[in-house]
Amino acid sequence: MTESTEVATTRSAEWMTRAARLFPGGVNSPVRAFHAVGGTPRVIERAAGSRLWDVDGNEYVDYVGSWGPMILGHAHPDVVAAVQAAAARGTSYGAPSPLEVELAEEITDAMPSIERLRFVSSGTEAAMSALRVARGFTGRPKVIKLAGGYHGHADALLVRAGSGAAGIGQPTSAGVTAATAADTLVAPYNDLLAVERLLSEHRAEVAALIVEPVAANMGVVPPADGYLEGLRRLTADAGALLVFDEVITGFRVHRGGAQALYGVQPDLTVLGKIIGGGLPVGAYGGRVDVMALIAPDGPVYQAGTLSGNPVAMAAGLATLRALTDDVYDRLEAYGAELQRGLVESAEVVNVRVARVGSLLTAFFSTDATFGAFFHGMLNRGVMLPPSQQEAWFVSAAHGELELTQTFAAAREAFAEARMADMREHGEAFVVD
Ligand code: PLP
Repeated sequence: MTESTEVATTRSAEWMTRAARLFPGGVNSPVRAFHAVGGTPRVIERAAGSRLWDVDGNEYVDYVGSWGPMILGHAHPDVVAAVQAAAARGTSYGAPSPLEVELAEEITDAMPSIERLRFVSSGTEAAMSALRVARGFTGRPKVIKLAGGYHGHADALLVRAGSGAAGIGQPTSAGVTAATAADTLVAPYNDLLAVERLLSEHRAEVAALIVEPVAANMGVVPPADGYLEGLRRLTADAGALLVFDEVITGFRVHRGGAQALYGVQPDLTVLGKIIGGGLPVGAYGGRVDVMALIAPDGPVYQAGTLSGNPVAMAAGLATLRALTDDVYDRLEAYGAELQRGLVESAEVVNVRVARVGSLLTAFFSTDATFGAFFHGMLNRGVMLPPSQQEAWFVSAAHGELELTQTFAAAREAFAEARMADMREHGEAFVVD
């Protein structure tokens, strides 16, 4: 069957045709469009545990996990019950409520560097607001981000490195002005010297440095030994705030996030994903003297109609309460086994698997090889993130059965990826 006849006959394709008349690229977030791997996205009808089902009735072992929030697996009974109970009491009040206090207490217990926090509705909002308060606190205009780091789509953060290895940023998106990008300085990740240089060149101007403490948006790249400690020291010396974007790593790599795993305390932390249990949530928080500047206590304005939304708070609270030590042990064990088994099934395919706990990425030598592997897995019922710049997310609902299914699919998908690689590179590709 050719790709085009297959596409024309699936319900997924029919829904995507309707969606294309409504949404840019047929999607509500770009990576879902499969542009990096080609083909037609599978339109999802329902999810439970480790699994997704598409509108054609195909079942998949899910390694997207909604890009991170679904650490317990989909439709976890505690989360579903909490959401139903909360919704029955009203879906939004626009007033303080007990659930936001209880969720904030869970977060501050797990992350003691967060002395005060504010809930918002997405990671984007949280990162944007954290930088605003950092600028308000220091009275300085510039921020440093690391190349390859993603912190949502606020203008100041849609910036890549300029022509040099480090320096003034350039917009990565049309619609972001050069003036905005000029206030964002960019250094390569895992390069302390570059940060040191930027901080000395722009000494009295840098309000904050924002970093994913485990980079997870260029594929998973763990911090080099001493890197986070170095950032802590350099920012403190320069009077700039250190902001950890733990939207992915918070409650994922450790209950206390990367800051607990690596033992480095930031001034501010940005959260999202897991703390909302699959509903829209973000949060930012940290030092009490910094957070005291936020309205209504201080002059830094930030507000939200749905901030602290009771249904989202209930989902987050149920999720965090179910994240026991045993869950983290199982996530680590599954991640380690998945990494080992992928490397073993790859045989002669040139692949490197980077991992921190239940976050991992298989790096292939070319995007075409990854694309072939991705479709090989998809056709055998394993849903991977449709780009090799993304992390795979394991959930607590993944177990022996999922491993067996994943490895069986991977052995065949690697063979297909090898064929694609040979087409691209010729016979000489085979590695020892
Ligand atoms: N920060 C990081 C590290 C992220 O991975 C993301 C999203 O993937 C964000 C911020 C933005 O979060 P959101 O998509 O909820 O706006």
